[in-house]
Amino acid sequence: MANPRRGRCVLCGHETTKGNMSKHLARCRHLQEHVAGAGTDKPETLLRLRIQDGYEGAYWLDVEVREGCTLGDVDKYLRAIWLECCGHLSKFTIGGWGGTDVAKSRRAQAVLADGVELTHIYDFGTESITRISAVGSRQAVPLGQRPITLMARNLPPEVTCMECDRPATHLCQECQLDWESPGTLCAQHAEEHPHEEYGEPVEIVNSPRMGMCGYTGPAEPPY
Ligand SMILES: [Zn+2]
Ligand SMILES: [Zn+2]
Ligand SMILES: [Zn+2]
Ligand SMILES: [Zn+2]
Repeated sequence: MANPRRGRCVLCGHETTKGNMSKHLARCRHLQEHVAGAGTDKPETLLRLRIQDGYEGAYWLDVEVREGCTLGDVDKYLRAIWLECCGHLSKFTIGGWGGTDVAKSRRAQAVLADGVELTHIYDFGTESITRISAVGSRQAVPLGQRPITLMARNLPPEVTCMECDRPATHLCQECQLDWESPGTLCAQHAEEHPHEEYGEPVEIVNSPRMGMCGYTGPAEPPY
């Protein structure tokens, strides 16, 4: 799948590369205005995290977590925006599979300080691996009342239909699992597609769990 790894700042709409997004967020005008215009809310330490899929890193999120944010909050957020298909188990570890488990009751800021990379594993069968690390912090009034604020995420990968080279909107799981074929289809070819072993082709959404287990999206942030 072609992927330019570009993303969009959800605060101001600016688009840039994955590599340059941290630089943008450090000087995003929306953030500076928010700081200047903040009312009576108290400043606190806000830690910025880079969250990415554990494979090619084509799917990524930049979020800011508040002091009270627990790993349980991060787990819920990841399930909502990327992962949830049928309520599988999940866990956090340091050191990947076979590493040291880290309890979901721990605070994200305490665990992720000092350059620690955390691995999140969702579904211990058809697992989705996510890598999480801290990339910056600031003392400021939080952007929202909730424990996590989304700051930026990757643009949806550009995928072409395997039949006709138009942009793909659907994915066939039978093609992928049984026929070693990409299974990417435009709306028209999705309609005509004969496979239904794992159900009809599903709509492509902006999530690294596309095509895994029964995942169908919606890949939207929970708040
Ligand atoms: Zn911005
Ligand atoms: Zn599932
Ligand atoms: Zn198919
Ligand atoms: Zn097509």
